Amino acid sequence: MLRGGCQRVGARLRGLRRGPRGPADGARRGVVSCIDRSGSDAASLMTSAVRQHDHYILNGSKAFISGGGEADIYVVMCRTGGPGPRGISCVVVEKGTPGLSFGKKEKKVGWNSQPTRAVIFEDCAVPVANRIGDEGQGFLIAMKGLNGGRINVASCSLGAAHASIVLARDYLKVRKQFGEPLANSQYLQFQLAEMAARLVASRLMIRTAATALQEEREDAIVLCSMAKLFATDECFAICNQALQMHGGYGYLKDYAVQQYVRDSRVHQILEGSNEVMRMLISRSLLQE
Ligand SMILES: Cc1cc2nc3c(=O)[nH]c(=O)nc-3n(C[C@H](O)[C@H](O)[C@H](O)COP(=O)(O)OP(=O)(O)OC[C@H]3O[C@@H](n4cnc5c(N)ncnc54)[C@H](O)[C@@H]3O)c2cc1C
Repeated sequence: MLRGGCQRVGARLRGLRRGPRGPADGARRGVVSCIDRSGSDAASLMTSAVRQHDHYILNGSKAFISGGGEADIYVVMCRTGGPGPRGISCVVVEKGTPGLSFGKKEKKVGWNSQPTRAVIFEDCAVPVANRIGDEGQGFLIAMKGLNGGRINVASCSLGAAHASIVLARDYLKVRKQFGEPLANSQYLQFQLAEMAARLVASRLMIRTAATALQEEREDAIVLCSMAKLFATDECFAICNQALQMHGGYGYLKDYAVQQYVRDSRVHQILEGSNEVMRMLISRSLLQE
């Protein structure tokens, strides 16, 4: 049932890309997903969607939406029913719909290649035909999407950590202290070795989780949670350690390593914080 719902997300979005407001030149249209200001307790989201004839009237707002204001299509989780996850539905809202507006561009510590804004709905009328899946299926659709999102975010951390290790290795070879390259220090050699081992462990966990997700295995949720928790924590620590190895230069914007630290920090918060990952993992263990 849920798989069908997610396939309909893709079909509906493809339909919208060809729709009346679609770009004439066939350019790609950005798609972002919005959950709510509810944060970690996603099932408590408040954005309401009240049905009036063949439209839903949306009211509420969503903080921290990546690509908010720039993307053309918004996949919105909203409350069509009572409290809890079963009252949540998923609708697609196109940019330009009256009642849809955006907050200011947030000033962030990192992740500056992508704008982040609040998305605001004020009596925003959306055709019922824009609903994905049945009423009440929105939470399941969001959670299913989040598993893939967790693999994505964890993989971004891998890239940052890999690049940081390369930068640190090259720096240790050229920077001299106490009459010899820093690379001759056994303390720093051991640290570099541990960083590489933690990177490979993170990569293996992500691959295992991605395989489980692709095979639609029952353990996919817990493996994705573990991979996201482990890889984003470990990779941030690797980036931070690489900055430390650069000494004061690591703190200068002229040196790339600081950007990896700033960009990878948010991965411990996004797509469900790492505390939420711990909740999901322990819940699965306790239910066995
Ligand atoms: C740059 C950026 C981009 C984002 N993009 C998107 C997006 O595109 N779409 C989208 O829907 N969301 C997006 N988010 C929102 C993100 O998913 C939330 O920030 C995240 O889920 C945490 O919610 P919160 O910020 O409300 O923190 P809160 O839920 O208020 O949590 C605050 C802290 O308390 C911890 N905590 C909460 N409850 C518990 C508990 N019971 N036990 C232990 N610890 C707990 C949390 O882990 C966190 O550390 C984005 C956020 C950022 C920063």
